[in-house]
Amino acid sequence: MESKEIYQRLTQCGIPATQELAQGLATYHRLLMDWNTRMDLTAVTEEAEMLDRHYVDALSPLARPGLLPQTGTLIDVGTGAGFPGMVLKILVPSLEVTLLDSLQKRLAWLEELSVDLGLSGLTFLHGRAEEEGQDPALRERFDFAAARAVADLRLLCELCLPFVKVGGRFLAMKSVDSEGELDAARPAIQTLGGELAGTYDYAIPHTQVTHRVIVVEKVRPTPPAYPRRWTKLQKSPL
Ligand code: SAM
Repeated sequence: MESKEIYQRLTQCGIPATQELAQGLATYHRLLMDWNTRMDLTAVTEEAEMLDRHYVDALSPLARPGLLPQTGTLIDVGTGAGFPGMVLKILVPSLEVTLLDSLQKRLAWLEELSVDLGLSGLTFLHGRAEEEGQDPALRERFDFAAARAVADLRLLCELCLPFVKVGGRFLAMKSVDSEGELDAARPAIQTLGGELAGTYDYAIPHTQVTHRVIVVEKVRPTPPAYPRRWTKLQKSPL
């Protein structure tokens, strides 16, 4: 995928970019496709689909002014091959980004990639969110948490909100048919110290694709009992 094509698509979608930053995404894409032949990084490989369903999707918070500022700390919970954390970092290099995943090999790949891309201000954290969220060095330390395609929103809130500082924000990237999931998650948001600030739907021009960002503000500290162990969290969601 050419950087010019990425640049044009991002600007067409209202995502602030420069040709130079789009070049970083083109490099990321080339390495992702290369490594995908040896490692299970992504199921989608068709270029137009990658561009709209992965890159634009992961970057869509940037299309809404003020939702994700240029500075601050962000943790991407369950980053996989770097969505959304790594692609956000490529486009907003001044963000301090922590990429968390329970799979070490994906993180090792992302770390190698960050060297190729010359990125600094990235931390690679191997672990489970429900355990790391109890670590005082990580708990309530981030301005933002983001997650995409990791778990149902009730569980996801318990995995992500403990990382967010009071006054910070959790961005859940969900599909537009997540209304039921959102309704079911309202008690969890409240219990974990969050407040639903709104949902932001984002239609990709000239496609049938619409993305949704669910925005949860952290208004109170998360009670110390959360996050619980995975079995408990899954068996009795809040
Ligand atoms: N966010 C990426 C994306 O949108 O392409 C990856 C999605 S993939 C379906 C889910 C990822 O979350 C996997 O890489 C998995 O290892 C990770 N994951 C799932 N549960 C987790 C947990 N409790 N703690 C940390 N990582 C987790």
